[in-house]
Amino acid sequence: MAQDRRGLTPQGEDFSAWYNELVVRAQLVDRGPVKGTMVIRPYGFRIWELLQADLDRRIKETGHDNAYFPLLIPESYLKREAEHVEGFSPELAVVTHAGGKELEEPLVVRPTSETIIGEMMSKWISSYRDLPLLLNQWANIVRWELRPRMFLRTTEFLWQEGHTAHADEADAMRETMLALDLYEHVAREVAAIPVITGEKTPGERFAGAVRTYTIEGMMRDGRALQSGTSHYLGTNFAKAFEIRYSSEAGALELCHTTSWGMSTRMIGGVIMAHGDDQGLVLPPRLAPYQVVIVPIGRGDDAEGVARAAGQLADRLRQAGIRVHVDERPQVSSGYKFNDWELKGVPLRLELGPRDLAAGTALMARRLSDGKEPISLETAPEVVEDALTEFQAFLLRRATEFRDGHLLTVDQWGEFQEAVSTGWARAFHCGNSACEDDIKAETTATPRCIPLDGAEESGQCVRCDRPSAYGKRIVFARAY
Ligand SMILES: [Zn+2]
Repeated sequence: MAQDRRGLTPQGEDFSAWYNELVVRAQLVDRGPVKGTMVIRPYGFRIWELLQADLDRRIKETGHDNAYFPLLIPESYLKREAEHVEGFSPELAVVTHAGGKELEEPLVVRPTSETIIGEMMSKWISSYRDLPLLLNQWANIVRWELRPRMFLRTTEFLWQEGHTAHADEADAMRETMLALDLYEHVAREVAAIPVITGEKTPGERFAGAVRTYTIEGMMRDGRALQSGTSHYLGTNFAKAFEIRYSSEAGALELCHTTSWGMSTRMIGGVIMAHGDDQGLVLPPRLAPYQVVIVPIGRGDDAEGVARAAGQLADRLRQAGIRVHVDERPQVSSGYKFNDWELKGVPLRLELGPRDLAAGTALMARRLSDGKEPISLETAPEVVEDALTEFQAFLLRRATEFRDGHLLTVDQWGEFQEAVSTGWARAFHCGNSACEDDIKAETTATPRCIPLDGAEESGQCVRCDRPSAYGKRIVFARAY
C-alpha cells in the first residue's frame, strides 16, 4: 500500500499539523490544482451527504422550498448594497472574458446569493399574500482565500443558503431565530458538537446585515469554530432590489429579509471537535461506515468466515446500519484495524473461526481499549444500542471539554490565560478599537453575545469602561 504508515503528529505537539495530515491521510480531501481549492474524496463527500440529508429534511419540514439560482451574478448587483459590496470585494472572483470576447459587464462568481435572489424576489412578490417567501439553495460558493485551510477556508466550498422575505421585522426575526435553532440542533444531535448560540458584535456582522447570529463550537485545541450563521437583513436588500409588497390596507411596503448558511466547514468542526492522535472520531450519525467487519480466517477457514461476515453485514444493513466488510486480502488485520481507527469508524467487529464456532463476534469501540464478545444472533440490536451510546458519549465528552475550557473572568491576566487554552466569558465595552486591541494582544475575537447568558453588567475586561451588552460576551481565538 502506498499509504504512509507513520503516525500522525500528536495534537498536543502541533494541532494544525495534526489536522492537515489527517484530512489527507483519512482520504477526506486532496488539494485542487488552483490554490485554495479542495477535492472532496468519496469518504469525505459521504460525510457531507449525511449532514446535508439531515439538514435538508429539517429545512423542508420547516416550510422552505429548494430552488437554484445562477452561479454568475452581474457585478452591478453587488454594488447595489454598499456594505455588502465593501465586505465581499476583496474575496470576489470576477469573469471578465467569455466566448472569446471581453464582456460588457463583468460577472461575479457567487460569493453568496442575496443579490441575485433579491432581484428575483422583487419579481415574485407583489402582495402580502405572497409572503412569507421561504427559499433555500444548495450550491457551491467562491470566495478567494489567501490563507486556505481544508474544509475551514477554501476558495470554493459547498453550502446551503436560506433566503426568506417577510412582511415585517417580527416575522423576519422569528425566521432568523428558527434557522439558528435548526443549526444548533444539527450541530448537537448530528455532529455531537455542543455549540454556544448568540449574536455577533457589530464588528463581526455579515456585510449588509442588521443582526447576525451564530453557532460557535469548541475545538479540541480550545479554539472556536463559527459553524453556521443566520442574518436578519432588515430592509437593506429590499431597498437595494425593490422587494416590495402591497399590504392588506393597500400601502406599498418594503419586505424584511433574512439569509442563513451552513457549509462544508462543519466537517472541519467534526474533525477538530472529536478527533484524537489516532485519527478521526466520527459521530455515528455522520459516519460513512458505522461498523466495519474484519473477517479473520486463513486457509480452510477463510471461506466460512467470509460467508458469515457477509451474512452478518446483510442483517446489520437490514436494521438500517451502515456497514462495510473489509475483505482486502493484501493487508493484515492489524493494518485494517489501524486504518479504520484513522478513519474514525465508531465500531469494529472482528470475526474469526473461533468466534464463529462460539456464535459470537468481537466488538471494539473507537475510543476505548479492549474488545467484548457479542452474540451474532442479537448483533443488530447490540450494535444499534452501541451506536446510540457512542453518539451520546461524544456529545457528553465534548460538553465536558467545553465547560472545562470556558472560563468566566474579570481580570485582564485571567482573560489572557483563558483564551490561550479555551474561551473567556467577560464584560466588554462594545468599542471596536478595544476589540482590535484585544485581538492584537491575544488574537482572540468576540465570538458572540450568548443568548442564554445571565443579565449582568460590569467593567470592560480590557479598558475598564462600562460593559455594553447587558451580559458577558464570549471571546476566543477562532478558525
Ligand atoms: Zn473595552
